[in-house]
Amino acid sequence: MSRIYLSPPHVSDRERELLLDAFDSNWIAPLGPHVDAFEAELAAYVHMPYAAALSSGTAALHLALILHGVQPDDVVVCSSFTFAATANAIRYVGAEPVFVDAAPDTWCMNPAFVEAAIQAEQRAGRRVAAIIAVDLYGLMPDYDALTAIAERFGVPLIEDAAEALGSRRSDGRRAGSFGRCAAFSFNGNKIITTSGGGMLVSDDEQLIDRARYLATQARQPVAHYEHTDVGYNYRLSNLLAAVGRGQLEGLEEKIEQRRRTRAAYEEALGHLPGVQFAPLPPDQSPNHWLTCVTIDAAALGVDREAIRAHLAADQIESRPLWKPMHQQPIFAGCRVYGRAVSDGLFADGLCLPSGSALNDSDRQRIIERIQATPGMA
Ligand SMILES: *Cc1c(COP(=O)(O)O)cnc(C)c1O
Repeated sequence: MSRIYLSPPHVSDRERELLLDAFDSNWIAPLGPHVDAFEAELAAYVHMPYAAALSSGTAALHLALILHGVQPDDVVVCSSFTFAATANAIRYVGAEPVFVDAAPDTWCMNPAFVEAAIQAEQRAGRRVAAIIAVDLYGLMPDYDALTAIAERFGVPLIEDAAEALGSRRSDGRRAGSFGRCAAFSFNGNKIITTSGGGMLVSDDEQLIDRARYLATQARQPVAHYEHTDVGYNYRLSNLLAAVGRGQLEGLEEKIEQRRRTRAAYEEALGHLPGVQFAPLPPDQSPNHWLTCVTIDAAALGVDREAIRAHLAADQIESRPLWKPMHQQPIFAGCRVYGRAVSDGLFADGLCLPSGSALNDSDRQRIIERIQATPGMA
């Protein structure tokens, strides 16, 4: 039996064609016409006017914090239930992450805890310099509430949309269009990939211009190498941007494939006692990046780890949900506001294989394997 990965790259002849075009044009690096086109096409897709293509989503988050003036010893309020890259970027600028728990109806940051965190941090005399909201597994937090809180306290809201390209709300707004700016990732496991890459998008032209400047070693526009700022080497290569353009063309189809995968899992497993699927907030249409379930072991007779191990023994990859940042050794000692929801999701949650190249027989194989977990009620 062939191995089934959680969310492997899925490429087509179109990416190959564009990549060869970039190669043959000798615009190997740095930058080039595919970078400009990828930026314009991605910005148009998320309905934002400006975008800068970068070497990773983490680089986009790092620049977002620098561009919002986050300083050493500032506090940044951040989702606890996320991938470590979100919180690491806060450390890169020397600031202190303060974590908030997820809301049960979105799995994303709970606005009530954000408000409590800002109030408590400010009362203690600390400067809250930014909020980073994460669009987890393609879901989005309650951005109406978060935006109102951010405005009321005068704290910029940054959107980590690394997992959410293609997610939208019923009012037509897309992931990446909330907040002052948003970060996307094109890492190998994301819904579209350039092998590695990222994008910073914003409606602030100056902010994106400055991101490009910092990402290109902060070189002044003179013939010799002149520098007045610390720069970074964070731009995306033209070769990878060509791949990204092909991936973006296929994005809607990939979302549809992943939606079908969730529907197949839900139809086969949704009635089992103790199995619950990730929320589908009524005003959201997620990109279904990963299909996630929680397992109530008392009701199902087996726990999350039993299912994961049974899948792994048949060469099927599944993963626990993100381990909250407040539980990570590297962030031990950071303050946290609320923890019960993300602790529960980490204890019982499982991401099922969700790649957009999964076919009906792959899905059937995964479903039957889960149903055959020894001890299941
Ligand atoms: C993948 C991911 C990132 C980091 O993106 P890279 O391109 O891998 O640097 C940041 N935040 C979240 C929530 C992610 O899932």
